[in-house]
Amino acid sequence: MLRDPLPGLLGPASERLRAEFDSLPPFESAQPGADTDEMARVLEATAHRLGDNYPYFHPLYAGQMLKPPHPVARAAYALAMTINPNNHARDGGRASSEMEIEAVRAIAAMFGWPDSYLGHLTSSGTLANLEALWIAGQVAPGRRIVGSEQAHYTHNRVSSVLKLEYTGIPVDRRGRMSLDALETELRKGDVGTVVVTLGTTAIGAVDPLDQVLALRERYGFRVHIDAAYGGYFRLIPEALDEPARRAYAAMDQADSIVVDPHKHGLQPYGCGCVLFRDPSVGRFYKHDSPYTYFTSKELHLGEISLECSRAGAAAVALWATQQLLPLTPGGDFARGLASGRAAALDLDRRLRNAAGGRVQPLAAGAPELDIVVWKPIAEDAAKASDLAQRIFVACSTRNLHLALVQLPQSWFEPEAEAGTGVEAGLVTCLRSVLMKPEHEIWLARIWQEYTAASAEVMGE
Ligand SMILES: *Cc1c(COP(=O)(O)O)cnc(C)c1O
Repeated sequence: MLRDPLPGLLGPASERLRAEFDSLPPFESAQPGADTDEMARVLEATAHRLGDNYPYFHPLYAGQMLKPPHPVARAAYALAMTINPNNHARDGGRASSEMEIEAVRAIAAMFGWPDSYLGHLTSSGTLANLEALWIAGQVAPGRRIVGSEQAHYTHNRVSSVLKLEYTGIPVDRRGRMSLDALETELRKGDVGTVVVTLGTTAIGAVDPLDQVLALRERYGFRVHIDAAYGGYFRLIPEALDEPARRAYAAMDQADSIVVDPHKHGLQPYGCGCVLFRDPSVGRFYKHDSPYTYFTSKELHLGEISLECSRAGAAAVALWATQQLLPLTPGGDFARGLASGRAAALDLDRRLRNAAGGRVQPLAAGAPELDIVVWKPIAEDAAKASDLAQRIFVACSTRNLHLALVQLPQSWFEPEAEAGTGVEAGLVTCLRSVLMKPEHEIWLARIWQEYTAASAEVMGE
């Protein structure tokens, strides 16, 4: 069922890598347990244990933000395991440090920073955001961080780790930061950094970056973009609606940007990325390592990173993926994103046309990226939440894997009723992240399973 291209890909490349070290005298491995039947047996048991998972690789998995790494990324990662480089320093990862620098340069160019920037990979989006907020605190000590109430939950927590005060800004009914509410905070005069999310985790909402930048003219603050999920959508402006397109076009005006290659960039986990527009913020990272910075006078990535050891293999996998699928508008990689976006619009259309008006999608203008959320219609939020939960389970028994998300009930109230005191209430909704290139052609099947499961629950 799942044809795995890895063995065929890896053989010749492994041979080539071995040949690179031909000048060394041969040696016998002294690893206990290697080269035995026992190892094969253990691996079979490992495979069996791994079967206890949702089928993240399959197009009928349309739940959480899980996208299978590209075969070339898996192969390059596995190849790099022969060396297991550490991108802390050139002493531990000479080739892979160069590959990281090249891969990050391509990401910076995608965001409109072709020449001057500072950036590196991190082990996650959370760590990348932590570095960006840490620099924000160094540049403007004691000043507040603000982000929308739909910003990733880690911003609040990371701010407290950094001992920076954090405030959540209310959002509109499509989950985008309210500019009026932001300006109210800015008038207080102590905001140092605004976190702008391009692609919220819950629903893929795109904060109005262009308008936040206009406020920066007046109030003066740093702009940090959290595009951990949505960053790569910069490559397909033609597939986005006007507000999102304007936000993406303005990314180069930010002070820092985070993107997660391990979300939409076809990478295995362990690959986030942080970029700063002003390379001189590198001064805040300055430290000496008594152990590691000896084999080269060139920059060691550990000198501009908060983490010490980092997987060189993550950089190798990213580099290889970007060689095969460059980050160019109109290229094959961009087409993969566009196809998930088309699947989301297709699902949204079907939900809005659904017979009998049994579900309620978000206000028009959503989805902005490739995440769709909807709420079963019921007398109250508790009943709607219960229905969502039961449809979620019924789908899963039909091999269709969706997700659930809690959203403010007020987003689903008619405009006139907003502000009547129901805002605080949450309702559990169904959520589908359609991030695989296969989702577009599988949407009809996804819809068929969904409508069957939903009819079972609704008792039709
Ligand atoms: C996923 C996500 C994060 C956190 O990234 P991790 O790689 O999971 O640590 C931060 N912000 C947004 C918007 C995200 O979607």
